[in-house]
Amino acid sequence: MTSARVVVDADVCISSGRCVAERPDVLRFDADELAEVVPGAPDLPTDTAVALARGCPSGAITLLDTGTGAEIDVD
Ligand code: SF4
Repeated sequence: MTSARVVVDADVCISSGRCVAERPDVLRFDADELAEVVPGAPDLPTDTAVALARGCPSGAITLLDTGTGAEIDVD
């Protein structure tokens, strides 16, 4: 099974809270109520990570393949 590292672009996040509610072990709000990755957060199974990224209403979440570092297409 492949896995993915979650990356958030705070400039694109609109603070919907969806990802934070869904995976509080991976994402949290910063002081400005923008999502950020929890320090030391685990990588996720790729299909789980893709579903998380697709659920972001602003497209702020991108994914990097744990093995290769390549960006994963979530469209
Ligand atoms: S789902 Fe997207 S817009 Fe909502 S808090 Fe997470 S990163 Fe921000």
